[in-house]
Amino acid sequence: MTIRCKVCGADVHPYEYSCVRCMSAHDFPNVRKARTAREREALRIRAIKSRRAAKKAGASVELSRLLDMLTDATIAFNRDLAVLFDWCHRPDQMFKGWLEQVSNGRRIFPDEFNDARVAFEHNVNPNFSKEINFCYLDTGTQNLTEYGPYKVKFHSKAVGHRVAFLETNAYYFCRQHKVVVPSDIPAGRRATWNDRGLLVEAKLGGVLRQGMSDADLGKLLLRERFQEDPADFIEAHVYGALHLSAIETISGPPPSADDEAMWQSVRAKLRTVGAKLEIDP
Ligand SMILES: [Zn+2]
Repeated sequence: MTIRCKVCGADVHPYEYSCVRCMSAHDFPNVRKARTAREREALRIRAIKSRRAAKKAGASVELSRLLDMLTDATIAFNRDLAVLFDWCHRPDQMFKGWLEQVSNGRRIFPDEFNDARVAFEHNVNPNFSKEINFCYLDTGTQNLTEYGPYKVKFHSKAVGHRVAFLETNAYYFCRQHKVVVPSDIPAGRRATWNDRGLLVEAKLGGVLRQGMSDADLGKLLLRERFQEDPADFIEAHVYGALHLSAIETISGPPPSADDEAMWQSVRAKLRTVGAKLEIDP
């Protein structure tokens, strides 16, 4: 979908953040994609169907509780301590997307999963996938430890306006829906920050059962990898690099004796941007 530049009237390219003619800033292309009338209408219809399914299963109360959990939701990712240390001590304090790191030779990926991952992530965010940082929707109790034991929670004011959610991991999503090119992506599977409730409703309304506990509901929002079953969560695609000051808190296990100095250093750096490093209770 093309939009017109508010300043000079030229067409703003769907993959660009700014107008190429006058360089005026517009909006993040991932957010614009999630905000199209086609996507929003499809999402709304899926959410209505799921709501009906929840009601039929006698789980309307569980659905309300699930949606209540989103009120204080944030965006997070997990990393290990060495990555956090590197981030804190880079001169620009910027965390760049995975594909950006790959193309700069900072990452190598000699396996089939990662080769396919490049293609699939490009299908979801065509021509700007390099700009995307992959996070997850977090309601406080989740953790995605396969990416590292430390959970990094971002200020919603720093990332909420530049996020588009996808209902699950882009890799498994593209495999499941046999997405070969970007136009194959079924509509109604992504949402902006403000529409996160509709996306959660659409994805999970149909699997709710009466009597589910908060822990059960939390596991529907994020389930860690178990043996051959991949992790499942609402994937958050944040456009652009993440500055250290976008962090609200980092939490994780206490450091080992070998890591103590690195941990203290990360904590001191975080303090300079008003963020905290906490040990999990
Ligand atoms: Zn313009």
